[in-house]
Amino acid sequence: MIEDKNPKRTPLSELGEFKLIEHLTNHFEINQKSTVKGIGDDAAILSFEDKDLVISTDLLVEGVHFDLSYVPLKHLGYKAVMVNLSDIYAMNAIATQITVSIAVSNRFPLEALEELYAGISTAAKLYNVDVVGGDTTSSTSGLIISITALGEVEKGNQVLRSGAKPNDLLVVTGDIGGAYMGLQILEREKEVFKVNPQSQPDLSMYTYIVERQLKPEARKDMVELLKQLDVKPTSMIDISDGLSSEVIHLCKQSKVGVDVYENKIPLDPQVIATCEEFNIDSTTVALNGGEDYELLMTISQEDYPKIKGNPNLSVIGYMTEERKGMHLVTRAEEKIPIIAKGWNALNNQP
Ligand code: ADP
Ligand code: MG
Repeated sequence: MIEDKNPKRTPLSELGEFKLIEHLTNHFEINQKSTVKGIGDDAAILSFEDKDLVISTDLLVEGVHFDLSYVPLKHLGYKAVMVNLSDIYAMNAIATQITVSIAVSNRFPLEALEELYAGISTAAKLYNVDVVGGDTTSSTSGLIISITALGEVEKGNQVLRSGAKPNDLLVVTGDIGGAYMGLQILEREKEVFKVNPQSQPDLSMYTYIVERQLKPEARKDMVELLKQLDVKPTSMIDISDGLSSEVIHLCKQSKVGVDVYENKIPLDPQVIATCEEFNIDSTTVALNGGEDYELLMTISQEDYPKIKGNPNLSVIGYMTEERKGMHLVTRAEEKIPIIAKGWNALNNQP
């Protein structure tokens, strides 16, 4: 289904480990002030002076987290970086460096890794993070990618999951559910392709949601916006597993309850249309679909005038006393308990 733009296949064994690392990493630039030493020594050296260092790691395994039959390697590289940067931004921090570790089987030629690194490189440039290290090894089966992201935050400016208070507003950036519906489209096209390999999928009606799945953007811009608006959220988390499980994380760690209003959840028209086509409830998708990488936060009522009317920030509910529990208030004004059905890596075995 994905056009092979690079038909050349150079076996990795032709280069050997050191040449391969050199080949993949020699074009990375250093732009961050905090990077003292990047790739090339036994370890990188970073200096954050008076700022706090924020660090987060993610591991992506072929067949569990991604399917190379419809995910182009360039997109995979880009997304692998986004997933990590998103965690840094969710701390109200700015990402500064990443390390990239890969395990590859000999089924991957050099050109495949070049594609992967092209995506990593694009993401690093666009989000202004330095690639300062990593590790490269072989794997007996699929591809494994682990990225560690580092970031900085001024002392006292970090936002944890645990700071929400009753009466705080629950706010989400952008819109949600798109990545999940994009995945439904890609899975459907994969099945069609299996039956008829000549078929050329027409995805033009689904460009936004397919892009949400294949090429998500971490919300660095929202961290910058919050700073500009002079709003420090009381708690924050990124939406990787779905709104309901992230809301539950905020509530549990902050020891509060929540009322989420169904009619306030921001959905793109393409998500609504595709849900209708698949005959799935769009609220269910927004609550349980994942991988949107939007930010979910709570802000104090006092800050409401600062965010009011901003198209990037939707108030979808408010926090309550813990004993009141966690509820979705439906369009019919029924209150139903929120339960976690989010994507769970350990339950996702094929
Ligand atoms: P070591 O033997 O100490 O593990 P390596 O030969 O693996 O060193 O790595 C050499 C340099 O290249 C180090 O700076 C390391 O961080 C970096 N590096 C290795 N693999 C990768 C990779 N896949 N992506 C980015 N940097 C890498
Ligand atoms: Mg090594």
